[in-house]
Amino acid sequence: MVPVIDPAAGEPFAEVHMAGADECTAAVDAAAGAADAWAATSPRFRADILRRAYEAMTDQHEPLARLITRENGKALPDARAEVTYAAEFFRWFAEEAVRIQGEFRTAPAGDKRIIVTQHPVGPSLLVTPWNFPAAMATRKWAPALAAGCTTILKPASETPLTALAIAEILVAAGLPPGVVNVVPASPAGPRVSGMLHDTRIKNLSFTGSTEVGVALLHEAADQVVRTSMELGGNAPFVVLEDADIDDAVQGALVAKLRNGGAACTAANRFYVHAAVAMEFTEKLTFAMNGLRLGPGLHDGVDIGALVSVAERDKVAALVDKASSSGARITTGGKIPDGAGAFYPPTVLADLDPTNDLLANEIFGPVAPIVTFESVDDAVRLANDTPYGLISYVYGQAFQDAFAVADRIESGMVAINRGTVSDPAAPFGGMKESGIGREGGFAGIHEFLESKYIAASI
Ligand code: NAD
Repeated sequence: MVPVIDPAAGEPFAEVHMAGADECTAAVDAAAGAADAWAATSPRFRADILRRAYEAMTDQHEPLARLITRENGKALPDARAEVTYAAEFFRWFAEEAVRIQGEFRTAPAGDKRIIVTQHPVGPSLLVTPWNFPAAMATRKWAPALAAGCTTILKPASETPLTALAIAEILVAAGLPPGVVNVVPASPAGPRVSGMLHDTRIKNLSFTGSTEVGVALLHEAADQVVRTSMELGGNAPFVVLEDADIDDAVQGALVAKLRNGGAACTAANRFYVHAAVAMEFTEKLTFAMNGLRLGPGLHDGVDIGALVSVAERDKVAALVDKASSSGARITTGGKIPDGAGAFYPPTVLADLDPTNDLLANEIFGPVAPIVTFESVDDAVRLANDTPYGLISYVYGQAFQDAFAVADRIESGMVAINRGTVSDPAAPFGGMKESGIGREGGFAGIHEFLESKYIAASI
């Protein structure tokens, strides 16, 4: 058994059994045993189950949100938004399950018909992080189940309870035995590795750090297992000279502080045109300073705890190092007294573009600001990272903002807004931020493979 810690109190509030190697094998047995029958169900049957799961998650919205806050630490409004977002994947993929398309056409030479059909790839291993314990699970479960794949989900050991609760919802919605299996497992490496090397596993969908993703890509290569990788980010937030600064500050708060900054999509580097940098910094400092930090379940709290004291200390060390190398702290920057993994909203101004902080995924409520003089410089700085998940651009002349969005190397770009996430849109990264897309029309194809049939008719 492993304790689940409430990061706001710094104390355990539940215990979860961690699967050993034998239990992981049993999960693969179950997923493999159910695979053919599940693949043979009708799309409408699968869609109806997903739709019922959407409705049940919506009915259980508040208790699920409270559970997320309890084990993850995020403020309740963030947890509520996550449940809504997470449930929407069930609704979207209920709708996608019945729209899987094939092809039928005549070959250019006229000698045959080209028929392309789609098939579930097979038992899929899903590995998820702690920062969105509901949404990262449903973003994988929903397309996998819609496509006709059975699944084994390994949640992060910090936040296993939410995934277990949603699995119960799926079972109650009518999933046959063996289709959804959840294996909290620690140590994660050997357990995931064992399952990944079982030849019955046909697909790996991973969300987490680039470091672990790279290791798993190597392992998946051993048996040519299909992979989808949603990895780390280092999002630039570019404020052009003509941006509406009040709007940009509002967008910055959303892009930076969703989940207390513990999001792969979190704005991580603010590049602000020199002409508006002082106004932006002052207004962002004022807004960040006005936010309430505290236990996520308390009324009126804007920013909850980080997931663990270790994560909090990592954020604090990054800020300390940046400030000792020239960054100016305009608000925050100090761990508050008392229990809990809290770190205050922090703004760092006057950063040199080479400051080491900018190369790190901060994963906390810290906004470093760098000024730029020309749009070319802004684009160069924004792209100066191995990551490419998401970027934000603020500017009133749409064609200029769009031109920047077009040149930035990331899988997603937000123009004049602080969020992009939408189950109906393709979420994913370029460069070392990942391979594949979740959500949108693309998401179901991560769990399907095509078969080309050449027919003389
Ligand atoms: P992590 O990589 O440490 O862990 C992710 C998952 O992998 C967890 O379930 C963990 O137990 C498991 N794991 C850890 N080591 C493993 C190993 N050696 N072999 C197999 N599995 C292993 O990431 P985290 O700290 O939980 O989450 C934060 C990271 O996730 C950040 O880098 C963030 O950007 C990224 N993330 C990306 C997205 C996205 O969509 N691109 C979304 C959310 C989080």
